[in-house]
Amino acid sequence: MTQKYDPSNIFAKIIRGEIPAHKVYEDPKILAFHDISKAAPLHILVVPKGEYICFSHFTANAPQQDIIDFFKKIGQIAQELGLEEAGYRLITNEGENASQTVPHFHIHILGGKKLNAKLN
Ligand code: 5GP
Repeated sequence: MTQKYDPSNIFAKIIRGEIPAHKVYEDPKILAFHDISKAAPLHILVVPKGEYICFSHFTANAPQQDIIDFFKKIGQIAQELGLEEAGYRLITNEGENASQTVPHFHIHILGGKKLNAKLN
């Protein structure tokens, strides 16, 4: 990871409160909000508030407890949104080949319908 974190990315602006988002969860280290262009009836983005570009940057650099708390919280959010029984999908896009468009690490939670089995 040679890329430098760009604090002007859209999720950094949402975290700083410079642009609005429909939030579903917030604590000092984690924010979850609805995706502006939903790919499923329920499409939530979960982000650590720290300056991490992508999955590998987060897992290599964040304190271990923050990584644990982040992934546990994703499960709790999905449960609180009522997604657990019917199931849901988690996605993270890392870098160019995965078509990551926002260079601030995020996990997509997709649910609310039977999702296509095709992943690409
Ligand atoms: P990526 O392609 O990087 O994995 O996902 C970025 C996601 O951010 C996309 O699903 C896109 O719809 C969403 N997104 C982009 N800009 C905004 C915004 O301003 N607000 C919200 N809530 N979502 C956004």
